Amino acid sequence: MTDTPADDLKPSFRSDVTVELVKHTASDADVLFAARVSTVGEQSLEELGKDPERSKGLINYLMRDRHGSPFEHNSMTFLISAPIFVFREFMRHRVGWSYNEESGRYRELEPVFYVPDASRKLVQEGRPGKYRFVEGTQGQQELVGRVMEDSYRQAYEAYQEMLAAGVAREVARSVLPVGLFSSMYATCNARSLMHFLGLRTQHELAKVPSFPQREIEMVGELMEAEWARLMPLTHAAFNANGRVAP
Ligand SMILES: Cc1cc2nc3c(=O)[nH]c(=O)nc-3n(C[C@H](O)[C@H](O)[C@H](O)COP(=O)(O)OP(=O)(O)OC[C@H]3O[C@@H](n4cnc5c(N)ncnc54)[C@H](O)[C@@H]3O)c2cc1C
Repeated sequence: MTDTPADDLKPSFRSDVTVELVKHTASDADVLFAARVSTVGEQSLEELGKDPERSKGLINYLMRDRHGSPFEHNSMTFLISAPIFVFREFMRHRVGWSYNEESGRYRELEPVFYVPDASRKLVQEGRPGKYRFVEGTQGQQELVGRVMEDSYRQAYEAYQEMLAAGVAREVARSVLPVGLFSSMYATCNARSLMHFLGLRTQHELAKVPSFPQREIEMVGELMEAEWARLMPLTHAAFNANGRVAP
C-alpha cells in the first residue's frame, strides 16, 4: 500500500478572508449613557431613547470634538480567518484590542493558502506611502497563481516531511510562508475599531487618506459592515466627521 496524503492535508487555495461577529454588547445607547453621566450622573440610563434627534446630535458632537471615551463602553468579538501576513499587520494595533490566535506549536497547521483572485490589483506604482495599484497583465496573473501554488505545495511538503520524521511542530513550521491562513479572535470596542478602520481602509469620506494593503482592508470592510449594523448612529457620525477616530 502506498502512502497517499489524506484529503485534508492537500493544499487548498483561497482568495477571500472571513470575519464572523461571534459576540457583542455594542449599541449606540452605550455611547449615550456613558456621555450623559457627565451631566445627569447616575440617572443617565433613564435618559436613553427620550429624544432620538438629541441622541444623534450628541453622538455627532462627541465624534466631531473627539471626546473619545464614551465610545469605549461596548465590546465586539470577531473570529477572523486570513493569511498570516494580515495578522502581522493587524496585531500592530495594540490599544483597545485583545487577540488569541491558533497555535502552530500545539496543533498541526492546515494547508490553506492565500492566492489573490483576478480582482486583486497586482502592480504597484508611485512612491512609498502613496502607492497606487493597477491591474496586472494576464501573464502576471497566471504567474502569480502558478508560482504561489507551487511554492506553497513545496513548503507544505517540507513541513509534512519533518513532522513525519518526528520533528516538533514548533520547529517544522519555520518553513511555512506568510500566505498560510490562520484564525484568531479579536475583541475591540468602537473607538479602537474606528482607529483601525481609519488606518486600514480607503474611503472617499476619509479626511486623512491611508494606503493599506488590500487584504487587511478586506478584513476591515467586513468588520465595518458588522459594526455599522450594531451602531448605526456612531458609524454615520464616524463617516460624517472624516473617518477619524475620536
Ligand atoms: C498604511 C500603513 C503602512 C504601515 N507601514 C508600516 C511599516 O512600514 N513598518 C512598520 O513597522 N509599521 C507600519 N505600519 C504600522 C503602523 O506604524 C502602526 O503600528 C499601526 O498602524 C498601528 O497604529 P497605532 O500605533 O496608532 O495603533 P495602536 O497601537 O492601537 O495605538 C493607538 C494609539 O495609542 C497611542 N499609543 C499607542 N502606543 C503608544 C506608545 N507606545 N507611545 C505613545 N502613544 C501610543 C497612539 O496615539 C496610537 O495612535 C503601517 C500602518 C499603515 C496603516
